[in-house]
Amino acid sequence: MKILSVNTGSSSLKFQLYEMPEEKVLISGVFERIGIKESFYTIKINGEKIKKEVDLENHKQAFKILVDELLNNNIVDSLKEIKGIGNRVVQGGSYFDSSVVVDEEVISKIDELSALAPLHNPAAIVGIRAEQEVFPNALLTVVFDTAFHQTMEEETYLYALPYDWCSKYGIRKYGAHGTSHKYVSLRANEILGKNDTKLITCHIGNGASISAVKNGKCINTSMGLTPNAGLIMGSRCGDIDATIVPYIMDKAGLSTKEIDNIMNKQSGLLGISGVSSDSRDIEQGIEDGNERCVLAHKMFVRRIIDYIAKYYVELGGCDAIIFTAGIGENSKDTRKDIMNGLSVLGVKVDDENNSLRGKEVRVSAEDSKIPCYVIPTDEEVMIARDTYDFIK
Ligand code: AMP
Repeated sequence: MKILSVNTGSSSLKFQLYEMPEEKVLISGVFERIGIKESFYTIKINGEKIKKEVDLENHKQAFKILVDELLNNNIVDSLKEIKGIGNRVVQGGSYFDSSVVVDEEVISKIDELSALAPLHNPAAIVGIRAEQEVFPNALLTVVFDTAFHQTMEEETYLYALPYDWCSKYGIRKYGAHGTSHKYVSLRANEILGKNDTKLITCHIGNGASISAVKNGKCINTSMGLTPNAGLIMGSRCGDIDATIVPYIMDKAGLSTKEIDNIMNKQSGLLGISGVSSDSRDIEQGIEDGNERCVLAHKMFVRRIIDYIAKYYVELGGCDAIIFTAGIGENSKDTRKDIMNGLSVLGVKVDDENNSLRGKEVRVSAEDSKIPCYVIPTDEEVMIARDTYDFIK
């Protein structure tokens, strides 16, 4: 059965078509700069990557081109072969603790939650509306980045603010990257050969979050009401003293929009280093002797260690620490510095394995008290699996 996994951004559309249940990727690709000048798309079939420049006015047009590519490359004989389409949605609020089939009520709830994910939720709706027109026979589903974290207890997800702000305004911790944390924790349980595990999953990419997962359920996660909480990120500040916000708005005469923009787009690795939000540039800066890059890296790693230590205590121990996403999968220096910072817990690095990149591997030494693994994340296959489960 063919299932399409879709991640719609405001000007982009990423997709992977799967043969399920084998989980074989038949074609994948991305449409970029939709609705902007110089739009293009890239597709990958049988390991071959093709890039085409084409005017893309909207997402519907992108889906129509995708259909043409599927037919022209003989991946499907008819559109009816695509039985389901799963969509990534960033914010599901307290409404959704699992994936659901799309209907008008679901769409209106995703819309209602747009204030908490202004760049992502509206884009997902645009994608779903386009799918309804282009794929009238497919079952449409949504998979929420927040759903995996809905198992947190009230004492964990509440902020110590007036109690009724949660019910009145939805102010609480929702977390993010849930699909990735779920994927790597499932895979870790397979590697460990048991399900009653205590895991600390570190999704460290441009956006970054850490989760504490007990027996397959999330008990805590570092992101909050929005994805700007917890860890230091590429350009996001993560945890700060909340009073800095009114203080600096007053001092520097900043509007709410301006302070929000600074905390999300000009802080983190970029804000400290003054060089870049990309960890590769920071690593280059460190090599070139740039002290602000050294400082940014140290702060970045320190915060991750702090969260791992906190979750170690909260879980009452840890069976494995997992690294995933762009930095977690690729940056051996970041992993090494994190693991060395956890030596008090008996964590020891395996330098040879840790220098491998982008593949599933144990990166801690044989005698490390907590095994540490790199597990490349695969959010797309999780979306395909959930959608397939509704249809099979
Ligand atoms: P993501 O958001 O998961 O796509 O991750 C993006 C981050 O991963 C960026 O900061 C990249 O610099 C980082 N990254 C990707 N490849 C590498 C690499 N080979 N070495 C270090 N960092 C990398």
